[in-house]
Amino acid sequence: MPAWICATCGVQYPDTDQPPAACPICEDERQYVGWDGQRWTTMAELARDRATTLRDEEPDLIGIGVEPSFAIGQRALLVRTPHGNVLWDCVSLLDEAATRRIRDLGGIAAICLSHPHFYAANVEFADAFDARILIPRADQRWIQRPSPRVELFDEDAEPVPGVTVARIGGHFDGAAVLYWPAGSDGRGALLTGDTITVVQDREWVSFMWSYPNLVPLDEATIRDIAHRVERFAFDRVYGGWWGRVVLRDGPAAIRRSADRYIARLNGERPTD
Ligand SMILES: [Zn+2]
Repeated sequence: MPAWICATCGVQYPDTDQPPAACPICEDERQYVGWDGQRWTTMAELARDRATTLRDEEPDLIGIGVEPSFAIGQRALLVRTPHGNVLWDCVSLLDEAATRRIRDLGGIAAICLSHPHFYAANVEFADAFDARILIPRADQRWIQRPSPRVELFDEDAEPVPGVTVARIGGHFDGAAVLYWPAGSDGRGALLTGDTITVVQDREWVSFMWSYPNLVPLDEATIRDIAHRVERFAFDRVYGGWWGRVVLRDGPAAIRRSADRYIARLNGERPTD
C-alpha cells in the first residue's frame, strides 16, 4: 500500500488503502489547502518525473532538495559528524540514487525537524537509514505518520554528540533550531528551517506565525526567540530553502531583525 503524501505541504501520511480524508497541517491557519482542493500523491508517483538532489553547502554540510520543486520547495540539510550524521528537516522524495549517495556519506543517525511543514517523508528516510527521529513534545499532535523511531524531547536534545536541537517556539510551539558548532569552519552554524527564516536580504531574518498567509508574531514571542538562541556561538544561519543563508555574524542579524520587527509592530519607522 502506498504512503500518501499531501501535494500542497509535502507531508507523508501512513500507508492505507485510501488517502486520508484531509491534511490537518494544510487545514491549520498557518498553511492552506491547495486551490484545486486537497490532492494526494505518493513517493512512487513523485519519482516518475522528479529527482532527489544533493548539493554541497560547505564542508560536511550537504543540501538535499527535490527537482523540479515539489510542495513548499524546501531543502533539507545533512550534517556530517564523526559521531554520525544528522538530517535536519526533510523532503518528500528519497530516490535510489540519493539513497546510495547518502549511504556513501555515512548514512543518517538521527533526523531532527524544525517544524511540521518540513516533516515531509521523515519516517521513510528514517526507515531507509535506521535513524532516530527527534521531535519536540510540544508538537506531538502534528505528527501525521507515527513511528516507533520517534523520540519526544522537551527543551533540547543531542541527536549525536556535539550537535544540539533546541525548541525555541514561535512559528509552532515546538519550532526548533539545530546548533552545529563545527560548522562555518568551526565558527558555528545555526540551522533554522523557518523557525527563524532567512529573508531575501540575507543580512536579515524574520519570524512569522504563518508565512504563506503572512500572519506575524507578537513582541514577547520575538524577544523570546532572539533570547533563546543567544546561548549559541555561530556565524552562518541556514534557512530552509536553497541559498537562504546568512553568511556571517548570524547573531547580529537575528538581533537587528528582532529589533526592527518589534519597532514596526510598535509603529516606528526608519528615520532619515
Ligand atoms: Zn498538507
